[in-house]
Amino acid sequence: MRVIDRCNLTILGEPGCETLAHFLAEQQVEITASLPCYLEENVDKQRGDGVFQASLDGLRRLNTLGYGLPESGLILNLVYNPLGASLPPDQATLEQTYKEQLATRYGIVFNQLFTIANMPIHRFGSQLLSRNEFGNYMSLLKNSSKPRNLESVMCKTLISVGWQGQVFDCDFNQMLGLPLGGEPAGLIHLGELLDADFSGRPIRVADHCYGCTAGQGSGCGGALVQEATPQATTAIQQPVTDR
Ligand code: SF4
Repeated sequence: MRVIDRCNLTILGEPGCETLAHFLAEQQVEITASLPCYLEENVDKQRGDGVFQASLDGLRRLNTLGYGLPESGLILNLVYNPLGASLPPDQATLEQTYKEQLATRYGIVFNQLFTIANMPIHRFGSQLLSRNEFGNYMSLLKNSSKPRNLESVMCKTLISVGWQGQVFDCDFNQMLGLPLGGEPAGLIHLGELLDADFSGRPIRVADHCYGCTAGQGSGCGGALVQEATPQATTAIQQPVTDR
């Protein structure tokens, strides 16, 4: 079974979690980790002071174990999400820039970059509300939604498992505490589903799903369709200023 750890890099250096990276490597777990920029100013502005350096420490720890290195078999993918209320840029172009910048600035290597649209939920949703941008962002997502992306949204082939073993249609639904579609009784534990057939099961959807179907589409595997959206590729070249 292919297992992906949706990793917050800073956790790898937290007290009590020092052996986590080694455990993941031993188990051949694929790692998909958020790094919204290769510039410290941008990451700390979005995620909080010190997050960038802690993330670099996590990446160095993973590289030392072989993650991201050719032929190691240990996959390390990074995730970019826009700093503001816009759709992600072209994934392939940005991946090239990330690879060059992280290698030359910090000596860090990784396999692939995934661009993911910001979901209008939780912290980003709150930011949108506080800036009175929520309605505009939802309109952007809805107006950019492409029916073709419905074929490959990640909830059709992946499930998300919380740290306590509860199963969700995706990690966004997990963040919202939304139980599997077709499960009105509430949250289901992985142990109850090990032999279950997921074919044809309903998926729980809501307005945030437009975040997966807008533009080139997005999910934990990055863009669903590769297409050029050059308007946003320069958005991370310089540190953001106050919005
Ligand atoms: S947010 Fe909606 S469309 Fe996207 S993966 Fe989850 S359930 Fe599927």
